[in-house]
Amino acid sequence: MMADMFEDKQVQPWIDSLKELFRNGHQNYKNLLQMEQDILQIGHFLEDFSNLKYALDVSAIVACTDTNGKIIYANDKFCELSKFSRKELIGNDHRILNSGHHDKQFFVEMWNQIRQGEVWEGEVKNKAKDGSYYWVKTTIVPLKDLTGNTVMYIAIRTDISEGKNAQEKLITALQNDYRHVVTSMQNLIFKVIKDKNGQFVYTLNEGKLAYELGLEKEKMLNKSLKDIFSEELQLMLEKYYCEAFLGRQLSYNYSFRGRQLLTYLSPIVSDGKVVEVIGCMSDITELHQAKQEVEFLAYHDSLTSLPNRRKLNEDLNHIIEKSQNNNDRFALFYIDLDRFKHINDSFGHSVGDCLITKVSSMLKKAIGNNSRLYRFAGDEFIIIFPQMKNHEEAMIKAKQILLLFEQSINLSNQLEINATCSIGISLFPEHGETSEELIRNADAAMYAAKTYGRSTYKMYEEEICQSQEKALLIEYHLRKAIDQNEFELYFQPKIDLNTKEMNGMEALLRWNNEELGSIPPDTFIPIAEETGLILKIDRWVLEKACEQNKKWNDSQFFKPMKVSVNISPLHFRTPKFQQVVQQVLEQTELDPNLLEIEITENSFMNQTEECIECLNDLRKMGITVAIDDFGKGYSSLNYLRKFPIHALKIDRTFIHEVSRNMDDIAIVKAITLLAHELNLKVVAEGIETKEVIDVLEEIGCDEIQGFYVSKPLSKNEFENLIKQNTNQNFIL
Ligand code: C2E
Ligand code: CA
Ligand code: CA
Repeated sequence: MMADMFEDKQVQPWIDSLKELFRNGHQNYKNLLQMEQDILQIGHFLEDFSNLKYALDVSAIVACTDTNGKIIYANDKFCELSKFSRKELIGNDHRILNSGHHDKQFFVEMWNQIRQGEVWEGEVKNKAKDGSYYWVKTTIVPLKDLTGNTVMYIAIRTDISEGKNAQEKLITALQNDYRHVVTSMQNLIFKVIKDKNGQFVYTLNEGKLAYELGLEKEKMLNKSLKDIFSEELQLMLEKYYCEAFLGRQLSYNYSFRGRQLLTYLSPIVSDGKVVEVIGCMSDITELHQAKQEVEFLAYHDSLTSLPNRRKLNEDLNHIIEKSQNNNDRFALFYIDLDRFKHINDSFGHSVGDCLITKVSSMLKKAIGNNSRLYRFAGDEFIIIFPQMKNHEEAMIKAKQILLLFEQSINLSNQLEINATCSIGISLFPEHGETSEELIRNADAAMYAAKTYGRSTYKMYEEEICQSQEKALLIEYHLRKAIDQNEFELYFQPKIDLNTKEMNGMEALLRWNNEELGSIPPDTFIPIAEETGLILKIDRWVLEKACEQNKKWNDSQFFKPMKVSVNISPLHFRTPKFQQVVQQVLEQTELDPNLLEIEITENSFMNQTEECIECLNDLRKMGITVAIDDFGKGYSSLNYLRKFPIHALKIDRTFIHEVSRNMDDIAIVKAITLLAHELNLKVVAEGIETKEVIDVLEEIGCDEIQGFYVSKPLSKNEFENLIKQNTNQNFIL
């Protein structure tokens, strides 16, 4: 075996080393014994080496290469695996096995390392003679002679093909799985590269969305933008792809085939260069729609779908800016429905809503395309008339709008309402140069229109603000009126036309404020109703009226008389109104038969059940109820049959001229007939002349009330009147 070994070329370096030892050794050795021992040691070493070589040969691929890269030794295993014969291998270099898998750099680095005398380790893919590939784990050991020069390289390799193949299979499987995932994704994943001509070309296009959009990969792969998309889309996408190829991550969305699509682009950088761009596209149509809805809701009123206050502010700022630049003028109309609160309280909020909707479509139709209508708040609308040049134009328009309201508005089969509105106008730029100023001044003008009697319009003037301030002032003082003892009750006698005797009196509220003077109820009651103060005020009146009537009833001068108290619709419609009355009666100890409640027709519109219940309760308590201002409001005669009431008080507008106006006579006659038919008493108020009394007597009216008999009187005046007419009999 030793001989075999010596025959092998590859141990030549060892032999050379030994020769060297023998040649020069005697000079270094002191005696032959020493040399013999060394030779023996070399012998042992060689024996060990041969054993080692054997072990290596059976377990690994061993090759020796000279410093020029030529193979000088190849063991059997090497031949077996590479399928080359030893002859073919020896004298050749390793390039014979090159699989092409590794790049040049790989081998350059390997050689650099082993030339420096360092051990190199790595995994190499080789090609066998039959073209098959195998992987080897390789360790290359540079072998040096005694002087330290590398004389050859021993490469020890183990076959790792099996593991490597498994790994490759795994990678392919993973890639396939990734592809599967991408394909089954709801989104669309694509890759774009830039081809030689600078065209963007799709190299991947997967995902369900691709199919839904009709962008199947068959239509996309290796195609450029112009092969697929319209010119417009092409330009847009090109812009984004260009940006992404500059290394920017970006997102954009656009609409395509009825879908809203959101795309993220991520550049893939290799060696500092963007080599491709990956895009991920999702369908955000629903999200987009929801966003649009939210935007619509944010800028529109849900009841009328009109643009709202927020939109007005934005638009107004734009219009102001534009008008400033173009030296244009425009008008802003502030429209408020008259007594809307009253309608709401009387008929309920659904009727109120219905009215708002009707009015909004009425206004929309009337203003034309160039103008813009907004719902500013509850019953307040704002219209902007661009390019409205002057006062005259604005006034003509305002009159047109008021005309719209002359016809009654049909809210349902049974309900028609005569609504009116008040309009305030401000002009840009003379009445304000900011949106706030223009709105504020138009609002002040509108408020002035209301104080001028409603159903009219007003152009902004500075004095207007003062009247608005007055209303605020009234409200301010009204809040303190009860506590400061500023209210007083007046009483107006009611006469029985048959007996000519006074059988009752209406309690009427008077307000005297130190600063504002005496304010008529027609001025402050609407403000009290609008601010809700009326509840407190009505209760105060009820208490005082009952308290006073109790006192009079207890006094020897008075025969028992009913006191009539006006109750605002807002108050009557509060839940358990009857309990308030009950409390007051208990507290004042007035006989319920001596109290009458006056309510107007709109107190019980639209809340039939609750009202019947309340009226029944009042009746059970012994209280009578009269319908005040009958004929003036939203009369529906139907309720007269259903409601437990006692009297109709014909509105004074019908009474005033009843002696001269045939129409009025006919109305009063008809009402009286109807009332008597239903067992109701008829009361006529506002009687100022003897002639009117005569007509009413003839018609058969039951009770009268008016200046002709007596103005409303203070407590003292009233007591004096009673004392003068001891039997309370009035000569009419
Ligand atoms: P109303 O309930 O119709 O009251 C009758 C009004 O007619 C009273 O006005 C009375 O002074 C007036 N009047 C009486 N006789 C004549 C007449 O011959 N000719 C004319 N032209 N008018 C006459 P007043 O006191 O100014 O009250 C106005 C309205 O204010 C009342 O109308 C009522 O709706 C309301 N009001 C008055 N006091 C109260 C109150 O205590 N509570 C509530 N809720 N409303 C009240
Ligand atoms: Ca009344
Ligand atoms: Ca009345």
